[in-house]
Amino acid sequence: MQNFTFYNPTRIVFGEQQIAELAALIPEGARVLFTYGGGSIKKNGVYEQVVAALAGKVYFEFGGIEPNPSFDTLLKASDLLKSEQLDFILAVGGGSVIDGSKFIAAAACYDGDAWDLLCGKAKVQQAIPLGCVLTLPATGSESNGNSVVTRYSTQEKMAFSSPLVYPQFAILDPTTTFSLPPRQVANGVVDAFVHVMEQYLTYPANAPVQDRFAEGLLQTLIEQGPQALERPEDYAVRANVMWAATMALNGLIGVGVPQDWATHMIGHEITALHGLDHAQTLAIVLPALMQQQRQQKRDKLLQYGKRVWQLAHQDEERLIDEAISHTRAFFEQIGVPTRLADYGIDASAIDSMVDRLVQHKMVKLGEHGDITPDVSRRILQAAL
Ligand code: NAP
Ligand code: FE
Repeated sequence: MQNFTFYNPTRIVFGEQQIAELAALIPEGARVLFTYGGGSIKKNGVYEQVVAALAGKVYFEFGGIEPNPSFDTLLKASDLLKSEQLDFILAVGGGSVIDGSKFIAAAACYDGDAWDLLCGKAKVQQAIPLGCVLTLPATGSESNGNSVVTRYSTQEKMAFSSPLVYPQFAILDPTTTFSLPPRQVANGVVDAFVHVMEQYLTYPANAPVQDRFAEGLLQTLIEQGPQALERPEDYAVRANVMWAATMALNGLIGVGVPQDWATHMIGHEITALHGLDHAQTLAIVLPALMQQQRQQKRDKLLQYGKRVWQLAHQDEERLIDEAISHTRAFFEQIGVPTRLADYGIDASAIDSMVDRLVQHKMVKLGEHGDITPDVSRRILQAAL
């Protein structure tokens, strides 16, 4: 186990009817920017619950934050926040609204070009405090310090992390997820699954407690994910998926162990250039990366195959093959295709993806830093 500090300041308020708790969770006297996405909250009753809970508070609405939130849209929200002298952000939606709100929170306190915060030129020094109501279990954004933003004019999708943008609170009412379309349910399960894999499928670090947290989350997602699709209004299933997705990326399972994140970094370039959903890119990249890195990840691949999929071959190579094919089959089973060709992308697109990785300095990816642009190219070729 490696040395670590673990601190997660987000208060999780979990369960049915908990949106009403907003009234007590938002600081007294706050001037609130209430952010949301393209309107799903106006169709499933979440908006009404939020407005009821905000009664008597001063708040301004900013709707229209897109999936893969747009830099330009978020700057408009940041301008509104500054011009109305707002001092708290309430983000209501999925990862895009929450990530976007974190960026608004940081951009509002930054004097230069806010892109600096995303391209690594500047660190977040200050941010407006925020809280959130989560409606899509997937990203873990409700309880972490990460934010991913897309600048559409240059087709760039970039991330920043800061302890200053952890939400102060996150309300997780599983009934808000009943209205999710199947594609978003499946996306959420794949994203959470891959978050666990990025922190688990590396090399052994004498951390069995971390391994078993990760394996428990993976098995929960494998079991409950398909049930969420079959029985959309099963509260217990939704609750388990929602909590598993939060636990997958709230920092807990990643401390003390090596981390990978190459699948996410390669995936961001696919979304930026071709507009695929975040989870679709992960379903494409991960099986190909597992195959490409099978020597480096050998011990953990064997452990993953045995413990998560209960595989029992004597032949270790075959066991690894099956661990990879089970992973691919799981994504396909819940409706997320795993090949670039499934999304109409062919070999001619690979050069520009690799060029973008180089441009964004993503040249030593993975837990060993050995996923060079050439290796990324091989992964993408294997994903065709
Ligand atoms: P999302 O982009 O927030 O939402 C996807 C779609 O689902 C939107 O059209 C949204 O509609 C709809 N939706 C959300 N909740 C709904 C509900 N309860 N009922 C019906 N429709 C609903 O999806 P996401 O997967 O949560 O977030 C993806 C983004 O997060 C990507 O940009 C990705 O890169 C990023 N990400 C962040 C982290 C992190 O650590 N912060 C980790 C992984 C990925 P409306 O817009 O109308 O609400
Ligand atoms: Fe993700």
